[in-house]
Amino acid sequence: AKKYNRGELLWYSPAMSRASKQRLDLLHDLENAIKNEQLTVFYQPQINLATGYVIGVEALVRWPQPDGGFIPPDQFIPLAEQSGLIIELGTFVLETVCKQLNAWHKEGLDDLSMAVNVSMIQFNHPGLITQLANAIREYEIPAGLLEVEITESVAMQNPEAVIQTIEKLKKLGIKLAIDDFGTGFSSLAYLQKLNADRLKIDRAFVRNMALNNSDSSIAEMVINLGHKLGISVIAEGVEFPQQASILRTLGCDEAQGFMFAKPAPANSLTLWFKDTGR
Ligand code: C2E
Ligand code: CA
Ligand code: CA
Ligand code: CA
Repeated sequence: AKKYNRGELLWYSPAMSRASKQRLDLLHDLENAIKNEQLTVFYQPQINLATGYVIGVEALVRWPQPDGGFIPPDQFIPLAEQSGLIIELGTFVLETVCKQLNAWHKEGLDDLSMAVNVSMIQFNHPGLITQLANAIREYEIPAGLLEVEITESVAMQNPEAVIQTIEKLKKLGIKLAIDDFGTGFSSLAYLQKLNADRLKIDRAFVRNMALNNSDSSIAEMVINLGHKLGISVIAEGVEFPQQASILRTLGCDEAQGFMFAKPAPANSLTLWFKDTGR
C-alpha cells in the first residue's frame, strides 16, 4: 500500500530493502515527533574573540530519544529535506528560537543574537520570508539580531533565486551568514553579490590549524577576504586554546566551539549567562 506521498513516492513491497524500510520507519517517527512537539533546540554560544563575551547563539535542533539520548541532526535533517518534512521542522525551530530569544531579551540579554540554520528546501520555499517576518513581529525580535545561516553550497546552488531571497531577507533587516565557508568554490564576485553579514570558517579548517599550515592559510584567507568585503568572520569547531589563539592572531572576529561551550538547552545557558555575565 502507498504509505507516504511527500514529494517522493514510497511504496512498501516485498522487494524493499532493509535500509529503505528503516528509512521509512525513521521518517514516520520523525513526522510524529514533529507533530507531537518532541523535537527540541539546543543553543551554542558564539564568542567575540577580542573581548571574550558571548555575542549570540546558534540554534541546533535535537531529537530526544526515550533512552535519554539524541538522534543527531545529520541523521534526520537530510531525510527531512528529501521528504519535505523540513518545512514543518523549520517552522517548529523558528517558532521555538524566536520565543526563546524574546525570553532572553526580556531577561536583560537584550543584544544577544540568534543564528538559525536553514537548509536548501527551506531557503527556496516561497513561505520562508513571510514566516520570518511574522516570527520577528510576533516575538518582537529586533531583525538585526536574527541571522539565517545557509551553507556555501546552498548559496551556490541557484544564484539568481538565492540572491532574490537574500534581498528579501535584507529588506526585513535579517542577517545572513554563509556556513561551512571554504568548502565550496564561490567566486569573489559572487560572494560580493550575496551581501552576507558573516562568513563561518568550516570546522575542517580549524581542526588541524595548529598542525597544518595550509589549514591556517585557508582560515587566514577567509578572514582577509571577509574583512576586505566588510563581512565579519566566525570560526566554528574551536576546541583548543591554541586554535583560538591562532584565530585571534589572524584577526578572526568570533568563535564557536566546545572550548567555549557545547550546544546546550536554553535553561542551562540562562544559568551560564547569569554566572558569567556573558
Ligand atoms: P552546522 O550548522 O555546521 O553546525 C555545527 C555542528 O558542529 C553542530 O553539530 C555542533 O554541535 C557541532 N560543533 C559545535 N562545536 C563543535 C566543536 O568544537 N567540535 C566539534 N567536533 N563539533 C562542534 P550538530 O548540532 O550535530 O548539527 C549538525 C548539522 O545539522 C548542522 O551543521 C546543520 O547543518 C544541521 N542542523 C542542525 N540544526 C538544524 C536546524 O535547526 N535546521 C537545519 N536545517 N539544519 C540543522
Ligand atoms: Ca550552522
Ligand atoms: Ca557549519
Ligand atoms: Ca557543517
